[in-house]
Amino acid sequence: MCESAYPFRVGDFECIAIRDSAEQCPVRELLPDIDDPQVREALALRGWSTEEMSYDFLGLFVRAGDDAIVIDPGWGPCTDRLESRFVPSLRQAGIEPDHVAFVILTHLDLDHAGGVIAPDGGLAFPNARHVMAEEAWAGYRSLRILAMCSPTDAESYRTLARLLEGRVLLTRDETEVVAGVRTLPAPGHRLGHTAVEFVSRGETLLHLADTVLHPIVVEHPTWSTGYDSSQERIRETRRRLFDRAARSSALVFLSHAPFPGLGRIASEGSGWRWSPSQTGPRN
Ligand SMILES: [Zn+2]
Repeated sequence: MCESAYPFRVGDFECIAIRDSAEQCPVRELLPDIDDPQVREALALRGWSTEEMSYDFLGLFVRAGDDAIVIDPGWGPCTDRLESRFVPSLRQAGIEPDHVAFVILTHLDLDHAGGVIAPDGGLAFPNARHVMAEEAWAGYRSLRILAMCSPTDAESYRTLARLLEGRVLLTRDETEVVAGVRTLPAPGHRLGHTAVEFVSRGETLLHLADTVLHPIVVEHPTWSTGYDSSQERIRETRRRLFDRAARSSALVFLSHAPFPGLGRIASEGSGWRWSPSQTGPRN
């Protein structure tokens, strides 16, 4: 198995989890309440570090019928500290970017959306329609939000907006992109944050994006996490989507869990339990 591409199936859908990049990250950045003894204890109980962890940046490819779909193509050229491997890994798997019909963006943070920009400044997926929440598209073109970004990030957002003009498919509420592929609003992380559900032949894959930044949060959905815009709304989103995942026995994909980011969420008592997929390597 390739270190950064993990193929799997969901019903008739052929999927590949792709590691765009990875970096060491202080656990405190993800779990600001790390000094709370209960938090430390819960992490230790599950064998997670309380100091530093490898934080993966994962994207996904799904072939649904005739449609080649990319979900979050990683950083692309919008990072100067990491090497973005999403498109090279996709090519290595035999998929050419110009065959991709849809690029679904769960939100517009550059570790998820930067990869729509090719290294030469053009479009990485020139024939794709780019699917995102209306709120995300409107938000990142507003001067108020651009003013809060670093100058480099603001420049990336201006490039993104220019390249995608006329090529976007905007979603509001639940939206079916193609048969069996549906976006689900997941508010509380970033503007327009969206989950994606894939259903084929009775099997379900639920892409939770950044609803969970550290897998321990599945078992502690009320914990505060870094990078979320509203703790209250993300907690509500977690409860709704964890319940959905448990009821459909879905395979679950998390954008920042250890590669390949797959596992299952099962009901346990009044909460949930995360079980990472046994098929992928741990790092
Ligand atoms: Zn993220």
